[in-house]
Amino acid sequence: MASLTEIFGQGNNAYFSNGPITRLSFLRLQYDLLDKASTHASAKYLTFEELNPLRTTDGNLAFLGYNDVADAIGRPYEKNEKAQIAEFDPAAHHPTLIFLGLDLQPSDDTPAVLGSYSGVPYFALDVTGGHYTTFKGSIASSGHKFSPTRVDLTLSHPESAIYSHARSFLDWNSRNRFCSSCGGRTLSTHGGAKVVCPPADQGVPRQRACSTRVGLHNQAFPRTDPTVVIAPISADAKRVLLGRGKRWPENYFSCLSGFVEPGESLETATRREAYEETGVRIDRVQLHSSQPWPYPSTMLIGAMGQCVEGGEDITYPETELEEARWFELGEVEHALNNGANAMWHPPIKGYVGPRVPPAQLMAHQVLKGVLRLFHK
Ligand SMILES: [Zn+2]
Repeated sequence: MASLTEIFGQGNNAYFSNGPITRLSFLRLQYDLLDKASTHASAKYLTFEELNPLRTTDGNLAFLGYNDVADAIGRPYEKNEKAQIAEFDPAAHHPTLIFLGLDLQPSDDTPAVLGSYSGVPYFALDVTGGHYTTFKGSIASSGHKFSPTRVDLTLSHPESAIYSHARSFLDWNSRNRFCSSCGGRTLSTHGGAKVVCPPADQGVPRQRACSTRVGLHNQAFPRTDPTVVIAPISADAKRVLLGRGKRWPENYFSCLSGFVEPGESLETATRREAYEETGVRIDRVQLHSSQPWPYPSTMLIGAMGQCVEGGEDITYPETELEEARWFELGEVEHALNNGANAMWHPPIKGYVGPRVPPAQLMAHQVLKGVLRLFHK
C-alpha cells in the first residue's frame, strides 16, 4: 500500500509549529473557564518585552506562574466579554494576554480541569511599558532575561512552536490597538484572538459610527501572510535553481521566495516570483509543506516547480537577486549534508561548496523534498 510518507517523507514537523499545546480555540469565548485557567496553580505564563521572550540563563523559555504576574494583571477574565466591552475605558490598562491553549499531556503539574478538558494552561503576556516596572523588578533576581534576537533558531522544537504562536499573536495585538476603520481604541477579546471596537467609552457612545460594528468583518482577527519558498527544477529534473540575495554572504544560496499577492493562487505566485526574480519559466507546481514564520506572521509555503522545455535561461527581469545559479542535484545533497547553517554564522569549518540554510528553514526542507523525488 502506497503512503504519503513513503512518497514525500515525514511531514507535519516544521520548526516553529507542531508543539505541545492544543489551542482549543472554542474555549476563548468561555471567560469563566479562562478565568479558572489563568489563575490555576499549573498555569504557565510566557512574558515578552518588545516581542522578546523571557529566557533562562541557559537560553530556554522561562515560564512564570500566576502568582508572579497577579499583581500586574489582576484577573483579566473575571468579567465576561460582553461586560468588558460595555464598560470599556480607553484610558485604563488592559493587559495584552493571549490564551495559547492547554498541554493535554503534562508531565508533572496537576492539570486544570476546564469543562471536559484537563491540562496545563499556557498564556502569553506582553509586559512592555511602564505598567510592568514593578513586575520586572520582581523577576530581576531570577537571572531570567528578555534577550533580543532577530530570528531565533536556538530553541528546542517544542519551545519554538510555543514562542512562534505567542510572538505572532502579541505582535498582531500590538499593531491593532486602534481600530483600522474609525481610529478608536480597541479592546482585545477572545483570549487575545480578536480585537473589537467598543461602541462606547466609559458608557459615552463614540461619536463616529464604526463600520466594524455592522455586518461581517474579519479584519479584527489575526492574519497570516502567505509567502512561497520556491525550488525551481530543470525540465529534465536533474538540476535545481538557487538564488543569492544582494546583502547575503558570499557563496550562500537558498530557494527563491516572495509574497503571494491578492488574486493569485499559490501556484501562480510560484510561477510569477520565479520568473520575475530569475527569468525561468515554470510549468507544473507541486506544493511541498508549510511553516509558520513568526516575523511577524508569515506562512511559508514550500513549492517545487518544473521548468518548461527550454525555460531555464536566467535573465533577471527584476534586479532583486545578486545571482541565481543552477546546481546539480548531487551538489545540493552535498551542501544540505555538509554546508547548511544560518547565514549570520560563519561557514562550517573545512566546507568550501555552496552554503545553504539549516534544517529549521523551509528552503532546506523543500530542497530535501526535491532530492527525495528526483535524486535516486
Ligand atoms: Zn472602529
